[in-house]
Amino acid sequence: SPTRCGASVRRIDQRLAMRRQVRGPTSLAIRSDGTSGHETALAGYRAVMDDHPDDPLSDAEIDAVVERCRADGDVELGAHDPRERFGWDKHAAKRRAPEVVDDVAELQKKLYAEGRSSLLMVLQGIDAAGKGGTIRSVMNGLNPAGVVVHGFGAPTEEELDHDFLWRIHHHTPRRGRIAIFDRSHYEDVLVVRVKQIVPESVWRPRYDRIVDFEELLSGAGTSVVKFFLNVSKEKQRERLQDRIDSPDERWKFRAGDLDDRALWDDYQAAFQEAIRRTTTGAAPWYVIPGDRKWVRNLAVAATVRHHLRLIDPQYPEPEEDIEDIVVA
Ligand code: ADP
Repeated sequence: SPTRCGASVRRIDQRLAMRRQVRGPTSLAIRSDGTSGHETALAGYRAVMDDHPDDPLSDAEIDAVVERCRADGDVELGAHDPRERFGWDKHAAKRRAPEVVDDVAELQKKLYAEGRSSLLMVLQGIDAAGKGGTIRSVMNGLNPAGVVVHGFGAPTEEELDHDFLWRIHHHTPRRGRIAIFDRSHYEDVLVVRVKQIVPESVWRPRYDRIVDFEELLSGAGTSVVKFFLNVSKEKQRERLQDRIDSPDERWKFRAGDLDDRALWDDYQAAFQEAIRRTTTGAAPWYVIPGDRKWVRNLAVAATVRHHLRLIDPQYPEPEEDIEDIVVA
Protein backbone atom coordinates (compact mmCIF):
# COMPACT_ATOMS: atom_id res chain seq x y z
CA SER A 1 0.00 0.00 0.00
CA PRO A 2 1.15 3.59 -0.54
CA THR A 3 1.36 4.18 3.22
CA ARG A 4 3.66 1.25 3.82
CA CYS A 5 5.91 2.13 0.90
CA GLY A 6 5.90 5.75 2.01
CA ALA A 7 6.88 4.63 5.48
CA SER A 8 9.77 2.54 4.13
CA VAL A 9 11.01 5.41 2.02
CA ARG A 10 10.87 7.66 5.08
CA ARG A 11 12.84 5.10 7.07
CA ILE A 12 15.45 4.98 4.31
CA ASP A 13 15.58 8.76 4.23
CA GLN A 14 16.14 8.80 7.99
CA ARG A 15 18.93 6.28 7.73
CA LEU A 16 20.52 8.17 4.87
CA ALA A 17 20.35 11.32 6.97
CA MET A 18 22.08 9.46 9.81
CA ARG A 19 24.81 8.28 7.47
CA ARG A 20 25.25 11.81 6.21
CA GLN A 21 25.84 12.99 9.78
CA VAL A 22 28.47 10.32 10.21
CA ARG A 23 30.16 10.84 6.85
CA GLY A 24 29.62 14.54 6.36
CA PRO A 25 27.46 16.22 3.74
CA THR A 26 27.44 15.02 0.15
CA SER A 27 27.84 17.53 -2.60
CA LEU A 28 27.69 17.42 -6.35
CA ALA A 29 31.27 18.66 -6.67
CA ILE A 30 33.63 16.36 -8.55
CA ARG A 31 36.39 15.19 -6.26
CA SER A 32 40.02 14.62 -7.11
CA ASP A 33 39.36 10.87 -7.45
CA GLY A 34 36.74 11.61 -10.11
CA THR A 35 33.68 10.58 -8.06
CA SER A 36 30.93 13.03 -7.36
CA GLY A 37 28.99 13.54 -4.18
CA HIS A 38 25.94 12.47 -6.08
CA GLU A 39 27.52 9.07 -6.72
CA THR A 40 28.38 8.74 -3.03
CA ALA A 41 24.78 9.49 -2.13
CA LEU A 42 23.55 6.95 -4.67
CA ALA A 43 25.93 4.31 -3.35
CA GLY A 44 24.72 5.05 0.16
CA TYR A 45 21.11 4.76 -0.98
CA ARG A 46 21.82 1.40 -2.60
CA ALA A 47 23.60 0.18 0.54
CA VAL A 48 20.59 1.11 2.63
CA MET A 49 18.24 -0.60 0.16
CA ASP A 50 20.42 -3.70 0.18
CA ASP A 51 20.53 -4.12 3.91
CA HIS A 52 17.01 -2.83 4.36
CA PRO A 53 15.65 -5.48 6.74
CA ASP A 54 11.91 -5.66 6.00
CA ASP A 55 10.54 -6.12 2.52
CA PRO A 56 8.08 -3.37 1.74
CA LEU A 57 6.22 -5.49 -0.83
CA SER A 58 4.56 -8.48 0.81
CA ASP A 59 3.07 -11.42 -1.06
CA ALA A 60 -0.38 -10.31 0.04
CA GLU A 61 0.11 -6.84 -1.43
CA ILE A 62 1.31 -8.30 -4.70
CA ASP A 63 -1.55 -10.80 -4.87
CA ALA A 64 -4.10 -8.04 -4.27
CA VAL A 65 -2.92 -6.53 -7.54
CA VAL A 66 -3.71 -9.77 -9.36
CA GLU A 67 -7.33 -9.36 -8.24
CA ARG A 68 -7.36 -5.74 -9.37
CA CYS A 69 -6.15 -6.61 -12.85
CA ARG A 70 -8.65 -9.42 -13.45
CA ALA A 71 -11.24 -8.32 -16.02
CA ASP A 72 -14.93 -9.02 -15.73
CA GLY A 73 -17.63 -9.12 -18.36
CA ASP A 74 -18.26 -5.39 -18.34
CA VAL A 75 -14.68 -4.20 -18.17
CA GLU A 76 -14.06 -0.60 -19.32
CA LEU A 77 -10.56 -0.34 -20.72
CA GLY A 78 -10.77 3.43 -20.29
CA ALA A 79 -11.01 2.91 -16.53
CA HIS A 80 -7.66 1.06 -16.44
CA ASP A 81 -4.80 3.55 -16.17
CA PRO A 82 -1.78 2.37 -18.24
CA ARG A 83 0.44 4.35 -15.83
CA GLU A 84 -0.97 2.68 -12.71
CA ARG A 85 1.73 1.74 -10.20
CA PHE A 86 -0.43 0.26 -7.43
CA GLY A 87 1.44 2.32 -4.85
CA TRP A 88 4.54 0.24 -5.53
CA ASP A 89 7.96 1.73 -5.01
CA LYS A 90 10.07 1.22 -8.15
CA HIS A 91 13.17 -0.07 -6.37
CA ALA A 92 11.17 -2.46 -4.23
CA ALA A 93 9.22 -3.74 -7.23
CA LYS A 94 12.35 -4.26 -9.31
CA ARG A 95 13.96 -6.22 -6.51
CA ARG A 96 10.81 -8.22 -5.88
CA ALA A 97 10.12 -9.29 -9.48
CA PRO A 98 12.99 -11.81 -9.71
CA GLU A 99 11.87 -13.33 -6.41
CA VAL A 100 8.37 -13.83 -7.77
CA VAL A 101 9.85 -15.32 -10.95
CA ASP A 102 11.85 -17.67 -8.68
CA ASP A 103 8.60 -18.82 -7.12
CA VAL A 104 7.23 -19.36 -10.61
CA ALA A 105 10.34 -21.39 -11.47
CA GLU A 106 9.89 -23.55 -8.37
CA LEU A 107 6.26 -24.19 -9.27
CA GLN A 108 7.25 -24.89 -12.86
CA LYS A 109 9.61 -27.64 -11.67
CA LYS A 110 6.74 -29.28 -9.83
CA LEU A 111 4.37 -28.83 -12.76
CA TYR A 112 6.91 -30.60 -14.96
CA ALA A 113 7.65 -33.36 -12.46
CA GLU A 114 3.98 -34.04 -11.85
CA GLY A 115 3.18 -34.03 -15.56
CA ARG A 116 -0.57 -33.67 -15.11
CA SER A 117 -1.49 -30.08 -15.86
CA SER A 118 -0.23 -27.28 -18.06
CA LEU A 119 -0.46 -23.52 -18.31
CA LEU A 120 -1.12 -21.38 -21.36
CA MET A 121 -0.25 -17.68 -21.21
CA VAL A 122 -1.80 -15.59 -23.94
CA LEU A 123 -0.23 -12.16 -24.56
CA GLN A 124 -2.08 -9.53 -26.54
CA GLY A 125 -1.55 -5.82 -26.98
CA ILE A 126 -1.04 -3.19 -29.60
CA ASP A 127 2.39 -2.86 -31.30
CA ALA A 128 5.10 -1.87 -28.80
CA ALA A 129 2.84 -2.83 -25.89
CA GLY A 130 5.75 -4.89 -24.58
CA LYS A 131 4.87 -8.49 -25.42
CA GLY A 132 8.48 -9.38 -26.15
CA GLY A 133 9.83 -7.68 -23.02
CA THR A 134 7.23 -9.40 -20.88
CA ILE A 135 8.18 -12.79 -22.27
CA ARG A 136 11.87 -12.11 -21.61
CA SER A 137 11.20 -11.07 -18.05
CA VAL A 138 8.99 -14.07 -17.22
CA MET A 139 11.24 -16.55 -19.02
CA ASN A 140 14.23 -15.29 -17.11
CA GLY A 141 14.84 -17.90 -14.47
CA LEU A 142 12.49 -20.54 -15.86
CA ASN A 143 13.81 -23.83 -17.15
CA PRO A 144 13.59 -23.41 -20.93
CA ALA A 145 12.99 -27.13 -21.34
CA GLY A 146 9.55 -26.70 -19.82
CA VAL A 147 8.45 -23.57 -21.68
CA VAL A 148 7.50 -23.05 -25.29
CA VAL A 149 7.02 -19.60 -26.80
CA HIS A 150 5.05 -19.33 -29.98
CA GLY A 151 4.39 -16.18 -32.00
CA PHE A 152 1.43 -15.99 -34.35
CA GLY A 153 1.95 -13.76 -37.37
CA ALA A 154 -0.28 -13.35 -40.40
CA PRO A 155 -1.66 -16.78 -41.33
CA THR A 156 -0.19 -18.75 -44.22
CA GLU A 157 -2.24 -19.89 -47.16
CA GLU A 158 -2.50 -23.35 -45.68
CA GLU A 159 -3.65 -21.95 -42.33
CA LEU A 160 -6.26 -19.81 -44.07
CA ASP A 161 -7.60 -22.94 -45.72
CA HIS A 162 -8.63 -24.20 -42.27
CA ASP A 163 -10.78 -22.96 -39.41
CA PHE A 164 -9.14 -20.17 -37.38
CA LEU A 165 -8.31 -22.43 -34.43
CA TRP A 166 -6.53 -25.07 -36.48
CA ARG A 167 -3.12 -23.43 -36.32
CA ILE A 168 -3.55 -22.61 -32.64
CA HIS A 169 -4.55 -25.95 -31.20
CA HIS A 170 -1.35 -27.63 -32.29
CA HIS A 171 0.71 -25.29 -30.08
CA THR A 172 -1.22 -25.59 -26.82
CA PRO A 173 1.02 -26.92 -24.04
CA ARG A 174 1.35 -30.61 -23.29
CA ARG A 175 1.07 -31.82 -19.70
CA GLY A 176 3.77 -30.44 -17.44
CA ARG A 177 4.60 -27.52 -19.73
CA ILE A 178 4.01 -23.80 -19.96
CA ALA A 179 3.23 -22.28 -23.35
CA ILE A 180 3.41 -18.58 -24.05
CA PHE A 181 1.51 -17.20 -27.03
CA ASP A 182 2.85 -13.95 -28.49
CA ARG A 183 -0.43 -13.04 -30.23
CA SER A 184 -2.96 -15.81 -30.61
CA HIS A 185 -6.41 -16.82 -31.83
CA TYR A 186 -7.54 -13.40 -30.57
CA GLU A 187 -6.04 -11.82 -33.69
CA ASP A 188 -9.02 -13.36 -35.47
CA VAL A 189 -11.37 -11.03 -33.60
CA LEU A 190 -8.89 -8.10 -33.42
CA VAL A 191 -6.90 -7.28 -36.57
CA VAL A 192 -9.36 -9.31 -38.62
CA ARG A 193 -12.24 -7.24 -37.30
CA VAL A 194 -10.53 -3.84 -37.43
CA LYS A 195 -9.11 -4.36 -40.93
CA GLN A 196 -12.34 -6.01 -42.09
CA ILE A 197 -10.46 -9.00 -43.44
CA VAL A 198 -13.63 -11.07 -43.16
CA PRO A 199 -17.24 -9.88 -42.74
CA GLU A 200 -18.76 -9.46 -39.27
CA SER A 201 -20.96 -12.51 -39.87
CA VAL A 202 -17.73 -14.53 -39.88
CA TRP A 203 -15.79 -12.97 -36.99
CA ARG A 204 -18.64 -12.33 -34.56
CA PRO A 205 -19.48 -15.99 -33.90
CA ARG A 206 -15.81 -16.52 -33.05
CA TYR A 207 -16.20 -15.19 -29.50
CA ASP A 208 -18.36 -18.19 -28.65
CA ARG A 209 -16.02 -20.56 -30.47
CA ILE A 210 -13.11 -19.16 -28.45
CA VAL A 211 -14.96 -19.61 -25.16
CA ASP A 212 -15.74 -23.21 -26.11
CA PHE A 213 -12.16 -23.85 -27.21
CA GLU A 214 -10.67 -22.51 -24.01
CA GLU A 215 -13.17 -24.50 -21.96
CA LEU A 216 -12.05 -27.59 -23.84
CA LEU A 217 -8.43 -26.83 -22.95
CA SER A 218 -9.30 -26.13 -19.35
CA GLY A 219 -11.22 -29.39 -19.06
CA ALA A 220 -8.17 -31.21 -20.38
CA GLY A 221 -5.95 -29.78 -17.63
CA THR A 222 -4.63 -26.59 -19.25
CA SER A 223 -5.04 -23.38 -17.26
CA VAL A 224 -5.55 -20.54 -19.70
CA VAL A 225 -4.44 -17.10 -18.49
CA LYS A 226 -4.77 -14.14 -20.81
CA PHE A 227 -2.99 -10.80 -20.61
CA PHE A 228 -3.88 -7.55 -22.27
CA LEU A 229 -0.86 -5.25 -22.05
CA ASN A 230 -2.51 -1.87 -21.74
CA VAL A 231 -0.26 0.93 -23.02
CA SER A 232 -1.28 4.52 -23.58
CA LYS A 233 -1.31 6.06 -27.03
CA GLU A 234 1.42 8.47 -25.95
CA LYS A 235 3.68 5.68 -24.67
CA GLN A 236 3.21 3.77 -27.92
CA ARG A 237 4.25 6.91 -29.83
CA GLU A 238 7.37 7.18 -27.69
CA ARG A 239 8.32 3.52 -28.14
CA LEU A 240 7.70 3.49 -31.91
CA GLN A 241 9.80 6.65 -32.24
CA ASP A 242 12.56 5.00 -30.20
CA ARG A 243 12.47 2.06 -32.57
CA ILE A 244 12.92 4.32 -35.55
CA ASP A 245 15.68 6.29 -33.86
CA SER A 246 17.86 3.46 -32.56
CA PRO A 247 19.85 1.40 -35.08
CA ASP A 248 19.47 -1.88 -33.17
CA GLU A 249 15.68 -1.56 -32.85
CA ARG A 250 14.92 -0.20 -36.31
CA TRP A 251 14.42 -3.68 -37.75
CA LYS A 252 11.33 -4.11 -35.57
CA PHE A 253 9.57 -1.19 -37.14
CA ARG A 254 7.09 -1.80 -39.94
CA ALA A 255 5.28 0.99 -41.78
CA GLY A 256 2.13 -1.03 -41.05
CA ASP A 257 2.58 -0.16 -37.37
CA LEU A 258 1.55 3.39 -38.21
CA ASP A 259 -1.56 2.21 -40.08
CA ASP A 260 -2.54 0.25 -36.97
CA ARG A 261 -1.80 3.28 -34.79
CA ALA A 262 -4.16 5.37 -36.92
CA LEU A 263 -6.85 2.81 -36.06
CA TRP A 264 -6.18 3.14 -32.31
CA ASP A 265 -9.80 3.62 -31.25
CA ASP A 266 -11.03 0.74 -33.38
CA TYR A 267 -8.42 -1.53 -31.82
CA GLN A 268 -9.33 -0.43 -28.30
CA ALA A 269 -13.00 -1.17 -29.02
CA ALA A 270 -12.07 -4.57 -30.46
CA PHE A 271 -9.88 -5.42 -27.45
CA GLN A 272 -12.59 -4.37 -25.05
CA GLU A 273 -15.28 -6.45 -26.67
CA ALA A 274 -12.99 -9.47 -27.02
CA ILE A 275 -12.10 -9.29 -23.34
CA ARG A 276 -15.72 -8.82 -22.26
CA ARG A 277 -16.99 -11.69 -24.37
CA THR A 278 -14.28 -14.20 -23.47
CA THR A 279 -13.24 -13.57 -19.88
CA THR A 280 -14.42 -16.65 -18.00
CA GLY A 281 -13.61 -18.53 -14.82
CA ALA A 282 -11.80 -21.13 -16.91
CA ALA A 283 -9.84 -18.57 -18.90
CA PRO A 284 -9.71 -15.13 -17.29
CA TRP A 285 -8.32 -11.96 -18.83
CA TYR A 286 -6.01 -9.63 -16.94
CA VAL A 287 -5.59 -5.98 -17.91
CA ILE A 288 -1.97 -5.16 -17.11
CA PRO A 289 -0.77 -1.54 -16.90
CA GLY A 290 1.82 -1.35 -19.67
CA ASP A 291 3.47 2.06 -19.56
CA ARG A 292 5.92 1.18 -16.78
CA LYS A 293 7.86 -1.95 -17.56
CA TRP A 294 8.66 -2.68 -13.92
CA VAL A 295 4.96 -2.61 -12.97
CA ARG A 296 4.05 -4.75 -15.95
CA ASN A 297 6.73 -7.37 -15.25
CA LEU A 298 5.84 -7.77 -11.61
CA ALA A 299 2.09 -7.83 -12.26
CA VAL A 300 2.43 -10.52 -14.94
CA ALA A 301 4.81 -12.67 -12.88
CA ALA A 302 2.48 -12.40 -9.87
CA THR A 303 -0.51 -13.46 -11.97
CA VAL A 304 1.33 -16.46 -13.36
CA ARG A 305 2.40 -17.43 -9.85
CA HIS A 306 -1.18 -17.08 -8.64
CA HIS A 307 -2.43 -19.49 -11.31
CA LEU A 308 0.35 -22.00 -10.76
CA ARG A 309 -0.46 -21.96 -7.05
CA LEU A 310 -4.10 -22.71 -7.94
CA ILE A 311 -2.91 -25.72 -9.94
CA ASP A 312 -0.85 -26.64 -6.87
CA PRO A 313 1.47 -29.15 -8.58
CA GLN A 314 3.24 -31.70 -6.37
CA TYR A 315 6.35 -33.77 -6.85
CA PRO A 316 5.25 -37.35 -7.51
CA GLU A 317 5.76 -39.93 -4.76
CA PRO A 318 9.12 -41.66 -5.22
CA GLU A 319 9.21 -45.41 -5.74
CA GLU A 320 8.81 -47.34 -2.51
CA ASP A 321 11.78 -47.92 -0.19
CA ILE A 322 13.99 -45.69 -2.29
CA GLU A 323 15.45 -43.97 0.83
CA ASP A 324 17.46 -47.07 1.71
CA ILE A 325 19.20 -47.33 -1.64
CA VAL A 326 22.90 -46.49 -1.66
CA VAL A 327 24.36 -45.76 -5.07
CA ALA A 328 27.54 -47.79 -5.39
P1 ADP B 1 5.07 -8.91 -34.34
O1 ADP B 1 4.51 -7.72 -35.06
O2 ADP B 1 4.25 -9.30 -33.14
O3 ADP B 1 6.52 -8.80 -34.03
P2 ADP B 1 4.91 -10.48 -36.83
O4 ADP B 1 5.46 -9.33 -37.57
O5 ADP B 1 5.45 -11.85 -37.08
O6 ADP B 1 4.94 -10.22 -35.25
O7 ADP B 1 3.36 -10.62 -37.16
C1 ADP B 1 2.41 -9.93 -36.56
C2 ADP B 1 1.41 -9.47 -37.57
O8 ADP B 1 0.59 -10.55 -37.98
C3 ADP B 1 0.53 -8.41 -36.95
O9 ADP B 1 0.38 -7.31 -37.79
C4 ADP B 1 -0.77 -9.14 -36.77
O10 ADP B 1 -1.87 -8.29 -36.82
C5 ADP B 1 -0.75 -10.14 -37.92
N1 ADP B 1 -1.64 -11.28 -37.65
C6 ADP B 1 -1.54 -12.17 -36.66
N2 ADP B 1 -2.56 -13.05 -36.70
C7 ADP B 1 -3.33 -12.69 -37.73
C8 ADP B 1 -4.52 -13.19 -38.29
N3 ADP B 1 -5.15 -14.26 -37.76
N4 ADP B 1 -5.02 -12.59 -39.38
C9 ADP B 1 -4.39 -11.52 -39.92
N5 ADP B 1 -3.28 -10.99 -39.45
C10 ADP B 1 -2.73 -11.55 -38.37
